[in-house]
Amino acid sequence: HLRRVDADHVAVSTSEVTTVPHLQAVWRAFGVAGSHQGPAADALPEALVRDDAILTHPVFAEHRSETQLLRYLRTLSDRDYALDRGMIPLGSCTMKLNATAEMEPISWPGFADLHPFVPAEDAAGMIELVETLESWLAAVTGYAAVSVQPNAGSQGELAGLLAIRAWHRSNGDERRDVCLIPSSAHGTNAASAVMAGMRVVIVKATEIGEVDLDDLRAVCAEHADDLAAIMVTYPSTHGVYEDGITELCDVVHAAGGQVYVDGANLNALLGHAEPGTFGGDVSHLNLHKTFCIPHGGGGPGVGPVAVAEHLVPFLPSHPLHPVAAKRQGIGAISAAPYGSAGILPIPFAYVSMMGAQGLTDATSVAVLSANYVAARLKDAFPVLYTGRSGLVAHECILDVRGITKETGVTVDDVAKRLVDYGFHAPTMSFPVAGTLMVEPTESEDLAELDRFCDAMLAIRAEIDQVAAGEWPEGDNPLVQAPHAARELLDWQHAYPVATGVFPTGSTQDKYFPPVGRIDQAYGDRNLTCSCPPIEAFA
Ligand SMILES: *Cc1c(COP(=O)(O)O)cnc(C)c1O
Repeated sequence: HLRRVDADHVAVSTSEVTTVPHLQAVWRAFGVAGSHQGPAADALPEALVRDDAILTHPVFAEHRSETQLLRYLRTLSDRDYALDRGMIPLGSCTMKLNATAEMEPISWPGFADLHPFVPAEDAAGMIELVETLESWLAAVTGYAAVSVQPNAGSQGELAGLLAIRAWHRSNGDERRDVCLIPSSAHGTNAASAVMAGMRVVIVKATEIGEVDLDDLRAVCAEHADDLAAIMVTYPSTHGVYEDGITELCDVVHAAGGQVYVDGANLNALLGHAEPGTFGGDVSHLNLHKTFCIPHGGGGPGVGPVAVAEHLVPFLPSHPLHPVAAKRQGIGAISAAPYGSAGILPIPFAYVSMMGAQGLTDATSVAVLSANYVAARLKDAFPVLYTGRSGLVAHECILDVRGITKETGVTVDDVAKRLVDYGFHAPTMSFPVAGTLMVEPTESEDLAELDRFCDAMLAIRAEIDQVAAGEWPEGDNPLVQAPHAARELLDWQHAYPVATGVFPTGSTQDKYFPPVGRIDQAYGDRNLTCSCPPIEAFA
């Protein structure tokens, strides 16, 4: 990037991939010949130059050819259970297809090599992509404007709550700092409220899992002077479309509060309902859930914050924002003006290829699939919450607590046993301890849904065998699950090897977990410090 500084000088940007021949080419272009103009000696102060060994773990030196590295990566992926192997029915996480056509563009140099602070005129295409995507997200959520700056749903929550606080302050309502949160909420909600400097007050749930509107009215009356907001998830984390949602919004607004609709469950709404229309003032979306950015390994995410008209002035700003008007404001929520911009081509491609009708259909299929699973499994595992129609939204909570009480088989045992059947476990013990939350998404076809339901029903039959005393309590296929390949060599169990390791009867395409059952709490209770003692820093 070559630019004019004044009449006598030009400046050139360099990076870690710039070499002396590049610079020589620039000099030649200005008619400067010869090598005497070579760069000065390394400009790094000597004290900052590192001379100790780096990357000393053997893995950094073992794979020295492309063949070896390729095989190493393949080994790692063989140990993994990912969406390219089968369904990951993690409720609340929306583990859907990350299509190759959506993923490919993020490796194109035009997207991948763009520096976050590149001058705006050099990023016209990226800015167009960002602004188009923001306008699409505003359109589908019924809000006035969207900022893609937050890097995660939780960060979008913080950005949204800061906008609410700033709005209250701009109205002279300094005191409004109470944030109501229903007892079923995702843990990030309360954490974000505390980070935004708010005080959390819990709103009760009714017996059928809905926000208790009577309790809400009472709490709102109590906090009429200091209510800032409510954070509510729709459909709820119980996997249900609560029909009191518009009334809930009205009650909070009447008490002077703002409504934050947690949009992580947008996969159950998109194309059918808009949080900005049914009463929300602000929402975050999870582009790494509903909009196809992969998120199995905790990689970069995007949690755009979407706001109604009155909150637009309080969206995240950034002192180096390419759009001058967005440099002043409440400040940055992420280090870069467009957050995780490098992965935005994924949702852009998803929305472009799906179109309005495609997105609407995807929601319908996601909800249909969850209801199919709930209907097939409800006699074996009670579905904890449903709407008044007896239906669920895009996920369902399977209640294992009764089974645990009667047979001792726990939610962990069912989850681990699913690995033997070739599945990733559903979400465990969220939002209700002792339950499993299943979200199939629209990406799974009927055959895969049936494979999952068949596995769950077979596990239920195994639980009955445990209950009937056919296997010892401490040595049955459930409590010993999952079964690793090495157990085949030295089978020590009270049940046949085929039952333990090949429960579906098929030996083909069997997924072997790299390890068997581990003591999950052990690591939490026995911290191991691998860092040097504090004296080493003296
Ligand atoms: C995933 C999720 C969040 C948080 O999003 P992150 O991107 O993980 O920070 C918040 N609320 C609900 C209901 C969620 O499912």
